[in-house]
Amino acid sequence: MRTGIHPNYKTITVSCACGNTFETGSVKQEIRVETCSECHPFYTGRQKFAEAGGRVDRFNKKYGLKNDVQQ
Ligand SMILES: [Zn+2]
Repeated sequence: MRTGIHPNYKTITVSCACGNTFETGSVKQEIRVETCSECHPFYTGRQKFAEAGGRVDRFNKKYGLKNDVQQ
C-alpha cells in the first residue's frame, strides 16, 4: 500500500449509553453509541419498543383477533 494516504485502522473501544463497552476496529479514536447488542430489544429479547402498539394492534383488539401472524 502507498504510505501516507491510508487512515490508521486500529482497535478502539465503543461506549454505549447503557454503560456497556466493547472493542471494535475503526479509524476513529472512540465511538459512542446509543444502542448496542446488550440493550437493543432485538438481541435481548425484551420487546420494550415493539409493545408501544400501533394501528394493527388496535384493529386486532377492536375486532377481537389474535395477534398471531396467520400464514
Ligand atoms: Zn447498550
